[in-house]
Amino acid sequence: MEIARTVADLRRRVADWRKGDARVGLMPTMGALHQGHIALVRAAQAECDRIAASIFVNPKQFAPTEDLGSYPRREAADLEMLQSAGTDLVFIPGVGEMYPPEFTTLVQVSGLTEGLCGAHRAGHFDGVTTVVAKLLIQALPDAAYFGEKDYQQLRVVRRLVRDLDIPVHIVGVPTVREADGLALSSRNAYLSIEERRIAPNLARVLRSIASAVAQQPSAVARELAHGVRELRDAGFAIDYLEIREEETLKPVTAKATARSRVFGAVWLGKTRLIDNIPIG
Ligand code: AMP
Repeated sequence: MEIARTVADLRRRVADWRKGDARVGLMPTMGALHQGHIALVRAAQAECDRIAASIFVNPKQFAPTEDLGSYPRREAADLEMLQSAGTDLVFIPGVGEMYPPEFTTLVQVSGLTEGLCGAHRAGHFDGVTTVVAKLLIQALPDAAYFGEKDYQQLRVVRRLVRDLDIPVHIVGVPTVREADGLALSSRNAYLSIEERRIAPNLARVLRSIASAVAQQPSAVARELAHGVRELRDAGFAIDYLEIREEETLKPVTAKATARSRVFGAVWLGKTRLIDNIPIG
């Protein structure tokens, strides 16, 4: 497995692959890898000849009050996981390589970024779209892989590549969960034993809303109100609990369809957890 720390190095290696007509897949990550990330590698391996992962804790997608400083960084363990999964190349740029001092560009997707996490994390999606646009232009992969765990991010990235005509196929990968239903996340490492015990209730409540609303599509308001009570009783503070259309992310307030999803973002102490479950 090769490691590139500069854009020039990344481009040289990908260009070598292209001489042999390889189909190239890219998985952008912030490291502290787990089996959710490895599912992206597997999805890429099924469709691509060469696989590159990036590890970059992107300061632009953290608000000043958020956990940039404490975000887990485990480069050696990440490299081992990627190597044993069969990744060909890992791009690990420093902050100065991605954002030299004279950097002043911001890539912004409107509309899709306004609700859900966008409403609670100021500037978050501008940071995401700026770094993803850079990574896609730097690596120019044939396909790039993103988890449904961050469903709003997946939709925003799809919009970004369409709007900017970036010739990359965006692939969504289903959420990988612990046996008790908790969606894998690098931030799960922050949870105390007691918080870890409570955490699976997020997925449980989302799932129970999804199945109730699948049975009775007009019960959106009642089921969401019930879900809010359940989450609070379990010990979460709630950022949002909503049903939205998958494609447009428009709120569903009256009648859900098979193309709707339940989205939740909650806090357990200082840890923010997000998850989403399809209704169809
Ligand atoms: P992150 O390192 O948290 O920025 O995530 C990198 C990529 O992995 C994103 O596309 C995430 O959506 C995806 N991802 C994170 N957790 C999971 C999971 N539990 N299942 C599937 N994909 C995931």
